[in-house]
Amino acid sequence: MYGRGIFKGLVVTFKHFINTYVDDLRYGWRKYSKDSDNFQVRQGPKSQGAFTVLYPDEKVAVPERFRFVPFLVVEDQDHPERPDHIWCTSCGICAKVCPPQCIWIVRSEDPVTKRPIPEPEAFFIDIDICMNCGYCAEFCPFDAIKMDHDYELASYDRTTAHIHDKERLSKPVSYWKRIAPTTAYEEMEARGGWEHTDVIKAKKKQADAEAKKTLSNFLVMQRKLGRSDLIETIRNAEELEW
Ligand code: SF4
Ligand code: SF4
Repeated sequence: MYGRGIFKGLVVTFKHFINTYVDDLRYGWRKYSKDSDNFQVRQGPKSQGAFTVLYPDEKVAVPERFRFVPFLVVEDQDHPERPDHIWCTSCGICAKVCPPQCIWIVRSEDPVTKRPIPEPEAFFIDIDICMNCGYCAEFCPFDAIKMDHDYELASYDRTTAHIHDKERLSKPVSYWKRIAPTTAYEEMEARGGWEHTDVIKAKKKQADAEAKKTLSNFLVMQRKLGRSDLIETIRNAEELEW
């Protein structure tokens, strides 16, 4: 029937209008409580009716995969071996894949040998040019650059305040775990631990070397004891190169 669609639309709008007050009555004074989960629930998909968020006093929670401008991951301040150490190795992949080319990296080098050091001396991102695509974070082989949830970056000073330097970009790994727990966990599983890829590799190499040394000492002792049959069995099993 002609006009039926308009009527249906008005019914939906009216339903939302009524539900707004029904929900208000259901929550009562608790709707003002900042300590409960009411706010998160009411501005989520399960909410009934219209719910006004009083920004900037209240903020809508962003989903875990929300992405704004990138930040650089650094170790936590209380890390036992490398506090505040930056995860970036200045490989330059993110700068190469960045579509609008808004990343600049200056590589570090040893002042004596002039050999490159795997960390950036300087790192800049022009956040006015960044289009929040997330390619840098996708392509980084060291999980060292991530997309942030902080969207309140406006200022009156475009010339300097919007070029984020290394210090401004750096945020601890615990921050990344807090804003994106699921993704951080998946990355940890793929890397094989919570540490930086290089640290995990170094620890594995050290553990392998120690295990090999222990086995070697054991075999030397068995040889002294004349246990050549046992040595042969172990050599075959481990395929050791002697
Ligand atoms: S952030 Fe990642 S991809 Fe970019 S230079 Fe550093 S390590 Fe390489
Ligand atoms: S999010 Fe996209 S545009 Fe922004 S710095 Fe990363 S690659 Fe470049």
